Amino acid sequence: RAIVRDLDVLEEKSPFIKPCPIQPVDPTVFETRFLRKIRELGEGHFGKVELCRYDPRGDRTGEMVAVKSLKPENGEEQSNNLLKEIEILKALYHENIVKYKGISQEEGGKTIKLIMEYLPLGSLKEYLPRYKSQTSLGTLLSYCIQICRGMDYLGSRNYIHRDLAARNVLVEKEGMVKIGDFGLTKSLKENNGYYTVKDENDSPVFWYAPECLTQCKFYLASDVWSFGVTMYEIITYCDSSKSPMTCFLDMIGRAQGQMTIVRLVNVLQDGRRLACPESCPGRVYELMRKCWEHTPERRITFKRLIEELSILQQ
Ligand code: ADP
Ligand code: MG
Repeated sequence: RAIVRDLDVLEEKSPFIKPCPIQPVDPTVFETRFLRKIRELGEGHFGKVELCRYDPRGDRTGEMVAVKSLKPENGEEQSNNLLKEIEILKALYHENIVKYKGISQEEGGKTIKLIMEYLPLGSLKEYLPRYKSQTSLGTLLSYCIQICRGMDYLGSRNYIHRDLAARNVLVEKEGMVKIGDFGLTKSLKENNGYYTVKDENDSPVFWYAPECLTQCKFYLASDVWSFGVTMYEIITYCDSSKSPMTCFLDMIGRAQGQMTIVRLVNVLQDGRRLACPESCPGRVYELMRKCWEHTPERRITFKRLIEELSILQQ
């Protein structure tokens, strides 16, 4: 009480040390002018991700963050998708899901950027080919389990990912991965066939279940199918010469454009699937096949996958 009284006295004497009303500083709002680009981290279908330093003091001591924005050529629809992605990621808390840090908004609120934690090791697609020799099958299976845990959590929150692939799984450190990229590519409904045209390298159609390709319907079980393809990528250490796209194109032939989807659907309907990768144990491949049941209801669930993978990992 004595201190309070002293303060009161001081205040009377000197108006300058009056405690000013506390300005609520929102730690999830990053000022665009303090974001310094270091380099590009990657580019996807609609957006790009940059490594930036958030450096309000301007002395290069600020933290590194990953900043996702839309490519300028994108319209309003994609901008809404980024807003949706931000809302989703903001509400997700799981150790196998990339952490949301905040947003950065330019004046007028016209462009918005998503600020995430930065994972220096990049995606599994960059990491696995480089660290192949030090990554055992046990570690690969542990990555699969972690992805399933993140996906099971996502499903429990009633979200469907729709773009699960090794390029969208980030490596936190050796032995630990997180799902990143929550849905710039969600509006598949309005975009049937669009990706094949735009994206030659990593067209997500090769990760899609038949019902997504034929009816543009996505279920939780459609994510399970994509997980199976992701698991295939992981077991092949993301070797691009064995990538799902390469293998499916070998299967269907390399003609251009829309026909790709039609022919892909046909081979899948005939029951053909990605082959068991070299050096992949039969029981591991069996799990992939359970993800690739034609009928969504017959596919294995993420919960079961966690159980089965844990048994195989021991
Ligand atoms: P898009 O929706 O455009 O596909 P992603 O979120 O998948 O964008 O990011 C594209 C690429 O950028 C990823 O494949 C990965 O290589 C890199 N990347 C994305 N987020 C991060 C991050 N938080 N830390 C490090 N690299 C990242
Ligand atoms: Mg991506």
